[in-house]
Amino acid sequence: MSNARRSGPASASVSASVSASVSAASTIGLTLALRYTHALGALSPYFEGLAAGRTVASVCAACGRTWFPPRPGCCSRAGAVQWTVLTGAGRIVAGTSGGGTLPFGDVPAGEGLALIALDGADNLALGWVDGFGGEPPEGARVRLVASGRHPPHPAQAARYVPE
Ligand SMILES: [Zn+2]
Repeated sequence: MSNARRSGPASASVSASVSASVSAASTIGLTLALRYTHALGALSPYFEGLAAGRTVASVCAACGRTWFPPRPGCCSRAGAVQWTVLTGAGRIVAGTSGGGTLPFGDVPAGEGLALIALDGADNLALGWVDGFGGEPPEGARVRLVASGRHPPHPAQAARYVPE
């Protein structure tokens, strides 16, 4: 833009008009609603279990390791796995607190988020924890429950609470 345009009366009018337009556009609200049919795939038993408060894990036929969250194939050899149901009880390994909502809806996140060693599992699960009033304490015993909510994805219905 030249100096003549910036200092002339006509350009001042144009500048004010553009500024008002940008301000109005930055305050509008839009709502978008998209609905998809989303397949749960090979992990369907796991997700259906979470929605019902059950810990459905996979067990490797080759090495005997149990995975929760499950793996559809185990280790580097991708051995076959079978489904099994754990007790749903476990121990907090590490916890933190936060907030916010979960994706795809207005379902509030739990009071805390934790890495949990489920009894009988060889890996750790990440899950929302309620009932401690904030950060889940390391070493605390918890169990998986269904929240009773019906969020967009069944994984969002799962909560851990003190055992
Ligand atoms: Zn294995």
